[in-house]
Formats: sequence, C-alpha cells, structure tokens
Amino acid sequence: MQAQQDQITDLFIIGGGINGCGIARDAAGRGLTVVLAEMNDLASATSSASTKLFHGGLRYLEYFEFRLVREALIERETLLQAMPHISWPMRFVLPYHADMRFDAETPTSRLLSTVMPWMRGRRPAWLIRLGLFLYDNLGGRKILPGTASLSLRDVPEGAPLQNKFETAYEYSDCWVEDSRLVVLNARDAEARGARIMVQTEVLSAERDGDLWRVTTRDRSSGETRVIKAKMLVNAGGPWVGDIIHTKIRSNSREGVRLVRGSHIVTRKLFDHDKCYFFQGEDGRIIFAIPYEQDFTLIGTTDQDHPDPDQRPECTEAEQEYLCAFASRYFERPVTREDIVWTYSGVRPLYDDGASSATAATRDYTLKVDADGGAPVLNVFGGKITTYRRLAESALDKIAKHFPDVPGPWTAGVALPGGDFPVDGVQDLIDRLVSDYGFLDAAWAGRLVRAYGTEARNILVDAKETGDLGEDFGATLTEAELTWLADKEFARTAQDVIWRRNKLGLRLNEDQVARIDRWMADHAQPEKVA
Ligand SMILES: Cc1cc2nc3c(=O)[nH]c(=O)nc-3n(C[C@H](O)[C@H](O)[C@H](O)COP(=O)(O)OP(=O)(O)OC[C@H]3O[C@@H](n4cnc5c(N)ncnc54)[C@H](O)[C@@H]3O)c2cc1C
Repeated sequence: MQAQQDQITDLFIIGGGINGCGIARDAAGRGLTVVLAEMNDLASATSSASTKLFHGGLRYLEYFEFRLVREALIERETLLQAMPHISWPMRFVLPYHADMRFDAETPTSRLLSTVMPWMRGRRPAWLIRLGLFLYDNLGGRKILPGTASLSLRDVPEGAPLQNKFETAYEYSDCWVEDSRLVVLNARDAEARGARIMVQTEVLSAERDGDLWRVTTRDRSSGETRVIKAKMLVNAGGPWVGDIIHTKIRSNSREGVRLVRGSHIVTRKLFDHDKCYFFQGEDGRIIFAIPYEQDFTLIGTTDQDHPDPDQRPECTEAEQEYLCAFASRYFERPVTREDIVWTYSGVRPLYDDGASSATAATRDYTLKVDADGGAPVLNVFGGKITTYRRLAESALDKIAKHFPDVPGPWTAGVALPGGDFPVDGVQDLIDRLVSDYGFLDAAWAGRLVRAYGTEARNILVDAKETGDLGEDFGATLTEAELTWLADKEFARTAQDVIWRRNKLGLRLNEDQVARIDRWMADHAQPEKVA
C-alpha cells in the first residue's frame, strides 16, 4: 500500500464516462501511466443516457455548427469500423408535408425570415434537401448510403404514419450501444496499462508543486487513498464545474450549462428497422427508434437542469410532451400507457451564453489550467460521436506537458471484440449457432452484438446450457455474469441489466434480486496492487 502511494502517475482522470475512458485509452496506448477514478459505475451518468447515435447532428446545421457536424460525420465511419459489434448503420425517415409550421429561433430561420419574410415559421422542402445534401457531402461518406426520397404510400415506413404524410426523405446515421462503448474503452485502456477504479470518488485534488495529490474514497470499503499525479484530467461530465470549484478549489470562470434530456421506451410501435426523425411545431426534433427488438425509443427533451447531484428523471410533463409530439405523426396516438421504461441524462454543455437549452452548443471545449503549478485539463461538452476526436485533442494538450509522447493511434484500431468486418455480424452469429448447438439465433445475436468476437471467451467449451452455470433468465447465465464481474468492472445487478446489457427490460424483480445476490458474492472490489 505504501509503495503504491509513493508511485507517481502521469495522468489522473476523474470520471468514467465516455470522455474519461476515451482519454484513458488513448493516453495509455501512448505509453503514459494512467489512473482513472469513477465514483459510481462506468457510464452511470450521461454516457448511458444518450439517444445512442453516432451522428453528425442534422439539426446543428441550422445553427451553422459546420465544424462539429463535419468532424462528427467523418467520425461515424471510423467508429463503425472499429466497433462493428456495438454500432451499426441506420436509415432515418423524415416525413414532410407543406403545411408544417415551426416556431424556430435558429440562425437559419432568422436569416430565412429576413431575406424571405413569407418563409417565417417554415422549414421548406428545398431547405431540408439542402441540409441533407450538405449532410451527405460534408463528411467524406464511404460506407453509408446517401439521401433518398420516399413515397410513403408505397413503402412500409409509411404504414404507421398518419395519411397526410405522403413524402419523406431518408438519410443515414449510425446506432451505438453507448454504455458498452464506455466499458470497452475502459477495458482497452486497462489492457494497455491503465488502472481503472470504479466506485471510487475523488474527494479532493491539491497541488503540491509540480504534482497533484488526489484523495480518493472507495465507496464500498470507505478506504481513502492519496495518489500523486503529474497532470489531472477533469472529465466529470455534469460535475465538471463542481470538481473545479469544490474538489480542486480553482478560481476558473469557465461555466457549464446542464441540460436534461429524457427518453421514453414504449412497446414496439412499428415493424421495420428504420428510425423516424420528427420535426415539432416548437422547432425541436425527436427520434423514434426501433429498440431492443420489441420496443421503440422516443426522445429527447431539452430542459435546463439545476444541479448535477439532483438525479435526472423523465418527468410526467416530459412524458406527455414526447407522447404528444410522436402522436402528431403516428396514426395510432402514443399514450403514457405505452411506456415501459424511461431514462434521463444531463448534457454537460459548455456555457456559451445561448438563450435556450436547445440552442446551447454541443461542441466540446478543452481548457488547460496550469497557473497554480501542476496542470489540469477541464473537459466541457462533447458528443458520444466525437469522443475519440475529443481524446486526440486532449492528448495534443496533454503532450505539451509530456514532450516524448507519440502521436495519435486510435483511428483504425478495433475496440475489444470489434476485430471483424463491418458487414460480418451475421456471419459471426451463424458460426456461433453452428458451434454452440444450444444457442438460438436471438441469444447468439445478443452475445455477438455485445461482445463481438469475444463472445466465444464467455461460452468457451460449453456443450449445453447447463455448462454456463446458473440461469438468471432472459439468456443471462452465470458464465456471462462472471465475465462482466471479472472483465467489465460490473459490481451490481443494476450495472449488469441497464449498462452492460438492457435485460432490465425483460427480467422480473426476483430474477434481478438473484443477480444482485450473485454479484454481491462474486464481484470483487479493486485489488490493491
Ligand atoms: C439526452 C441526451 C442525448 C444524447 N444523445 C447523444 C447522441 O445520440 N449522440 C451523441 O453523440 N451524443 C449524445 N449525447 C451527448 C453525450 O451523451 C455526452 O456528451 C457524453 O455522454 C458526455 O460524457 P462525459 O464522459 O463527459 O460525462 P459522463 O458520462 O456524465 O461521465 C462523467 C463521470 O464523472 C463521474 N464523476 C463526477 N464527479 C466525480 C468525482 N468527484 N469522482 C469520481 N467520479 C466522478 C460521474 O459519476 C460520471 O460517471 C446525449 C446527451 C444527452 C443527455
């Protein structure tokens, strides 16, 4: 223990969301020594509560956020190739009819109503087509198909919609399993030498000349430790401001704007694998996305959120808002009775002084503060989609303090289990079903989508279901729980059923209680080196 406390690490990262874990992986791969502390589970805050899209963000074009959109569009395909198990292409159907009116206060709508006052409150078809043309061409698309027009009367995508919608545009973006993305980055960081500590809160970080003395507390044992580091990375997401002011006690005036976004999950509302992009009269947009085979995911909202410590929840008003929004498009109205689950997250946006939550920039800002001695890098904003580029930009800044650090390496390097071709999922599933006769296609599909080529490391030489140990329901077995506890930092049933997978949608209370008991007996707190 004493030896460990005397060691000096290069980087100490606060926060096990996508930005902390992405920076940890990149830095460890460049040979820096890295310690990361996450006070709860990995991805327990914003990074498991997103809409789960690798997207350029079509709507940001209306805010002239061309840099962000271009970077994100290019990044979609880089990410898809590095993780074809947890990410896949999706087509987005944008229904349109000429009577639509919008109360939008975007730079585009202001410009339009200045030069063409009769266009006030409209998003004309030519503007949408122009946006989609830019979207198709800004980001060097190679794998994803481009925009198409749909005659909704002739295609299955028109069937669930109200009759008045006759035409639609269809474009491409990608889906990603957000919380698995975080865990796979953490695993890869660990494989490259980083130390990942979950359930470990940073209580304070004090400068001691050229070093940081970071005090942590293990939330299970209560044990506190002091770790010395040359540089600190504050990737606390919604807590970035709290860390600056109460943990580091810096006078930095950078601000964070907390914007809550909520989603509802309903029973399945339509029978195809495309997603809908709906425009609302308030100028906002929402998605309705096929989710976990039997469900539909609808979101999101934009509400200012007062305090990072106030747990975000999808309020009744937000549920009503999302149901009413979707009901303006679907033939059969969506009601609160259709809702089976909700979740909510807080966007930690850089405070750019925007008037509304919707308008606040989604771009990221990285600020190094080295005034008081040892440097700290504060991370504001960002998207799941740009996490790898954010990490590269962070490493550019970090490298100034570690002169011999090599250059970027993560583009083109697969995440664990992602070492197979983008179109290779079905082949992996077929081979799994053929080699493990007791698996059906749905079970094999779930394993491949979660673990990719590593699914075999869980099944090993099992010949029948019983060889996988206790059955917890919904195809979750003891063999998989052992993998999650040993390799994926899971400690509780909640970590397993809402972040390592989404089996919480299918398991009953008794089954969850059994998982919790198993995890309490088997999940090991971090062993002190
Ligand atoms: C509703 C919604 C929808 C979104 N949809 C998309 C989308 O579709 N596509 C996209 O690209 N992006 C999307 N985003 C944005 C994206 O989710 C976020 O930008 C990203 O998850 C932020 O990650 P983070 O690592 O900065 O923060 P977080 O994931 O919140 O991680 C910060 C971590 O720091 C930890 N922490 C804080 N204080 C301490 C401490 N003292 N000690 C130890 N640990 C600490 C927290 O527990 C937390 O886990 C969405 C965001 C929201 C809210």
